[in-house]
Amino acid sequence: MLFGLMTTELKENLNEVSRKKNQIETILLHMTDGIIAFNMEGRIILVNPAATRLLRIMPEEETFENIFEKLNIEINMEKIIYLDNWTSSEERVNLGDKHINLFFAPLKDENERPAGVMVVIQDITEHVKLDNMRKEFVADVSHELKTPITSIMGYADTLLEGEYDKKTQDKFLNVIASEARRMAKLVTDLLALSRFDNNQVQAQKEEFDLGDLVKRCQDKLQFQIKQKKHQVECFVTANVPPVYADKDGVERVVLNILTNSIKYTKEEGHIKIYVGFVYNDAYIKVIDNGMGIPEEDLSRIFERFYRVDKARTREMGGTGLGLSIAKEILDRNNGSIDIKSEQGNGTEVVIRIPTK
Ligand code: ADP
Repeated sequence: MLFGLMTTELKENLNEVSRKKNQIETILLHMTDGIIAFNMEGRIILVNPAATRLLRIMPEEETFENIFEKLNIEINMEKIIYLDNWTSSEERVNLGDKHINLFFAPLKDENERPAGVMVVIQDITEHVKLDNMRKEFVADVSHELKTPITSIMGYADTLLEGEYDKKTQDKFLNVIASEARRMAKLVTDLLALSRFDNNQVQAQKEEFDLGDLVKRCQDKLQFQIKQKKHQVECFVTANVPPVYADKDGVERVVLNILTNSIKYTKEEGHIKIYVGFVYNDAYIKVIDNGMGIPEEDLSRIFERFYRVDKARTREMGGTGLGLSIAKEILDRNNGSIDIKSEQGNGTEVVIRIPTK
């Protein structure tokens, strides 16, 4: 009787142990971080698939020493176990195009005696990429603000220091005013992006007619169109159903695309605008015969501050933020934007917006 009871209890305990082991194995199998445990001799006692993938190792053939020697990491087990007084240490390596973080910690047995070393391996490539983008962004913003400030200060100081006739004064003041406007536009664009980043703006969607909106944008840009003597034609297909989207946002996108076509097309250019309907989306297609975008720049055109020719587009008053804002707005409205272009021959921009 007693013996029977003992065997049942033992069986239960063993089941419990094997359940726990299974649980741990499943967790290790599906972890995105790599884990390797080494015994006191430096042999692998446990390794998960993420670790073999990240470090590109064959666990059967490896020891602590040769793994980290190959990675050019100067570390030895004794140091982790004894000298660091139970603290952990961290190392960073580049493996191909990946950035890897390694985290070393001593392993102890149930009596708190050293039993080996445990290494956690993290792929931090995405993190490093984002960090670099952030640094680049800060550098870009500072540079974009510094250029107009330098010129405003230069002209203002010149005016203060000398006596100039009215004509020269006006010329200098005009530069100051236009540079200040550029700065204001840049700051407004940055604030718009930052509001998107913080999810502060909920798109206020409503029904509206895309053809009407496009014509209104064209009217708003009459001055620039006349100045460059462009010929602009707008074709609206009959019966395009109303779209359901954030109207101010879409207007901003259309104004940006049309302004780009006007700016990046030489005088007396041709710009064609089509408004139509495919499947459940309404679309606007803007085709110009301007300078076009080189193929190698096309994939980066939606990045913040990306401009094909920095100096020239800055002269034209561009901030390099327009298309990235356009993309954010369309994403929020379940729409899309695509650009095809051939350097020297012109550009075609298509945006799609869902109808109700
Ligand atoms: P920007 O404010 O500088 O115009 P955008 O984000 O609107 O910034 O556009 C990014 C870059 O893409 C521009 O600087 C320009 O080099 C290029 N680009 C955009 N539209 C056109 C176009 N229609 N023709 C030629 N280049 C264009």
